[in-house]
Amino acid sequence: MISKHTGEIVRKDIINNKYILLDIQSSKNLEYKSGQYVSLFIKDKIQRSFSVYSPDNSQILSLGIKIEENGIGSGAILHDYKIGDKIDFLGPVGNFYYKEDQSDKLVFIATGIGIIPIKGIIDNLMILRPNKEIYLFWGVRTDDDILFEFKNYNIKYIQVVSRPTDNIQNVGYVQNYINKDTVHIDKNTSIYICGAPENVDTIKYHIKDNFVIDFNKIYTEKF
Ligand SMILES: Cc1cc2nc3c(=O)[nH]c(=O)nc-3n(C[C@H](O)[C@H](O)[C@H](O)COP(=O)(O)OP(=O)(O)OC[C@H]3O[C@@H](n4cnc5c(N)ncnc54)[C@H](O)[C@@H]3O)c2cc1C
Repeated sequence: MISKHTGEIVRKDIINNKYILLDIQSSKNLEYKSGQYVSLFIKDKIQRSFSVYSPDNSQILSLGIKIEENGIGSGAILHDYKIGDKIDFLGPVGNFYYKEDQSDKLVFIATGIGIIPIKGIIDNLMILRPNKEIYLFWGVRTDDDILFEFKNYNIKYIQVVSRPTDNIQNVGYVQNYINKDTVHIDKNTSIYICGAPENVDTIKYHIKDNFVIDFNKIYTEKF
């Protein structure tokens, strides 16, 4: 059974008027993997799921929330919650987290706010599995969607912007940058994809069409 917990909001940062970085301190110890998600009870009545990017088992759950235009849940978190407020949640639960599947090479692909669970998984790997060869491809629409910087990480990082406001090097859709010039993918590669459902499917079939892969090593989260 999935347990219900209570937490207290200990951080609420609004980024570029588009995103909220929300930290919730759980009143009880939690066992989970970064990349799983919690289901928040917002204003005690509506439930919305959010991926967790804090380290495995951290009692502080770090969430990244996109403020949707006319979004009921994200709008309520934006307007009606402040630091010190209590909020109930279920979880963390879910299947999107680092899998011990023996691959030395891990390729992560995110679109937009899909970066949240992927950042959590990569941050954990930096500490727990520093010898893995890690690639991150992250596609966003505009420059102000770039919530996190990965430049100082020991990974191969390719940022793609579809509608850049200035001279960004990689312009277009993220899948156009996943090719034999940027990464070698084979049956021993694990691939993690997170983003909007249509993007995840497009990226998955792009990879299938361009590389020989093990389908059992593709892990996806769609939202
Ligand atoms: C496993 C999982 C993990 C997730 N992780 C994250 C995460 O880490 N970060 C994150 O930001 N989200 C995440 N989500 C998505 C999140 O749960 C919400 O769906 C999202 O925040 C939108 O909720 P909302 O209540 O703000 O919008 P809603 O009110 O549910 O509206 C959704 C969309 O529909 C539009 N809409 C609403 N009403 C109408 C209408 N009458 N006509 C036309 N359009 C309308 C809104 O503008 C909005 O774009 C996750 C979802 C799942 C399932």
